[in-house]
Amino acid sequence: MYGIDLTGKNGLVMGVTNQRSLAWAIAQPLAEAGARLAFSYQGERLRPTLEKLTAGMEGAVLAECDVTSDDQLDALFATVGREMGRLDYVVHALAYAPPATFENPFVQVARDDWKTAMDVSAYSLVAVMQRAAPLMTEGGSAVTLSYLAAERVVPHYNMMGVAKAALEASMRYLAYDLGPQGIRVNAISAGPVRTVAARSIKGFGDLYGEAGGRSMMKRNIEHEDVAGLALALLSDRLGGGITGETIYVDAGYHAIGMFLPEGAEG
Ligand code: NAD
Repeated sequence: MYGIDLTGKNGLVMGVTNQRSLAWAIAQPLAEAGARLAFSYQGERLRPTLEKLTAGMEGAVLAECDVTSDDQLDALFATVGREMGRLDYVVHALAYAPPATFENPFVQVARDDWKTAMDVSAYSLVAVMQRAAPLMTEGGSAVTLSYLAAERVVPHYNMMGVAKAALEASMRYLAYDLGPQGIRVNAISAGPVRTVAARSIKGFGDLYGEAGGRSMMKRNIEHEDVAGLALALLSDRLGGGITGETIYVDAGYHAIGMFLPEGAEG
């Protein structure tokens, strides 16, 4: 009853840098279920990797798009419209904050760094859905990726935490606006996963160990954990009634209110 067949469906996946990218993990079950996929990448230097990764994927469309450029966004959606006609799914798996925002205390954040982080990591979802919605003529579903630092203070995340809070709020307003068109928008709040973006965060190694060791399940999450939920949220068959939601995939870490000291009886 719940076999997922996405034959005839079209998806846009944004944010693949390499095979460790969460965007790439999410693309796997979509492709396996039969969806045709377009991939957007930030700059031409990323294209060769994507060409290699997608070599066996029938009908894959590759298009450059730096999300800070309205012209590149327009060109991306013109390509998607021309090549695919209708769009059913969007995977928004990209973010950026300048290195100084991770290295310095939050109180020192510079105005330009604030704007950059907000633009790339939060506004981009709005800019994307503005252009995706007209192509979602039979309804659709979008998933973005967030992190616990949107809701709680996580040391070093600083500006990225603030941008993720804006991203989650934007997701809800988009879900409200686009719901009547049958378009769902949701966020997955993922626990730490080793990727290129994660490496840019100061102290990520400690944070990774902490998140796994102290989680309810005493483990870190895997790429596949995120991919499985993304498939469910994108597919109407599994996630058809869910929109405006942030769902945690973090082995239960977010729901713990207090940690006992090392060695104490739990
Ligand atoms: P990644 O480095 O593989 O992907 C990040 C992507 O963002 C890259 O493909 C990069 O090109 C893209 N990007 C950055 N600036 C851009 C711009 N101006 N225009 C277009 N693309 C741009 O890392 P990832 O961990 O897979 O990140 C994907 C998403 O998952 C991000 O939103 C990240 O914040 C989120 N996330 C990651 C973790 C983790 O621990 N890795 C946890 C929770 C959420």
